[in-house]
Amino acid sequence: EAASVGFIGLGRMGVPMVANLVRAGHDVHGFDLSSVARDRVQQTGATVHPDLADMAGRVDVLILILPDSGVVERVVEDCLASGVLRPGVLMIDMSSSEPARTRALALGLAPAGVRVVDAPVSGGVGGAERGDLTIMAGGDPRDVEDARVFLEPLGSVSAVGALGAGHAMKALNNLLSATHLWITGEVMAAGAHFGLDPHVMVDAFNSSSGRSGSTEKKWPSFVLPATFDSGFALGLMVKDMRIALDLCETVGGFRTLSEASVAMWEQAAESLPAESDHTQIATWIVERGGR
Ligand code: NAD
Repeated sequence: EAASVGFIGLGRMGVPMVANLVRAGHDVHGFDLSSVARDRVQQTGATVHPDLADMAGRVDVLILILPDSGVVERVVEDCLASGVLRPGVLMIDMSSSEPARTRALALGLAPAGVRVVDAPVSGGVGGAERGDLTIMAGGDPRDVEDARVFLEPLGSVSAVGALGAGHAMKALNNLLSATHLWITGEVMAAGAHFGLDPHVMVDAFNSSSGRSGSTEKKWPSFVLPATFDSGFALGLMVKDMRIALDLCETVGGFRTLSEASVAMWEQAAESLPAESDHTQIATWIVERGGR
């Protein structure tokens, strides 16, 4: 009998990921607290459950893509309290969670026979729709191997280390990505004030050494056309940057620019709603840019 997959978190990322799992032939069961989210997943062909315990008791694999570690912990506590989890269940946390809390979570789940893999993603809503996410998987190599058949319909999987390594990689990636977006905003504002055309600037950077994900993707796709529809919320980006900075502080070492970057994003987040698209930071920088 084919394994059945429970999928928790039917948000911007979750819904297209569920669609790809169903398309790959998996028996997918979805749960989200929000009835609007549950309605959205109905059209994918997954079975939708309004009750977490009812869903969690009938699956062999549980995939989570929830806002943060706090929410993941709450869902896991509810699953454990209901006592319905099958022994040997493989739990794959694809949220951008905190590596230390992921390790603690796995220790709490081990007595129930639940195995944990962390497998956060990069590539955004577009990557989730196309099934070409970058998936950074951490955990026991056997568990990561067992997770592959459920992850491969979603993107390309790299095993990056022990449990928590995926969550560490993801947070560090987003610290880098957010810092690129910040400095690109400053540079674009300076160039515009000098009289340079923003499209000309982006093209020049993209064939020069200043290029990054921000010049290659975020500015051309979301900032210059002023659509600001990357699908990744500002509040989630700031959460990821804090995770990365915590990690930097824990391990020690030089982090001057990291601290400045997080401080600037947090300052912007005071006047931009957490739900804003994270690419709107570019407008904030240009408007506050000091002229
Ligand atoms: P989202 O806000 O669109 O979706 C989160 C979903 O979780 C919502 O449907 C919400 O109702 C549900 N939820 C919240 N609490 C719940 C609970 N207790 N039980 C069940 N469901 C609950 O967020 P998203 O953009 O899909 O992001 C999810 C995760 O993926 C985050 O950790 C984020 O950092 C990460 N991520 C997002 C992107 C992106 O481009 N959006 C890219 C990479 C990684």
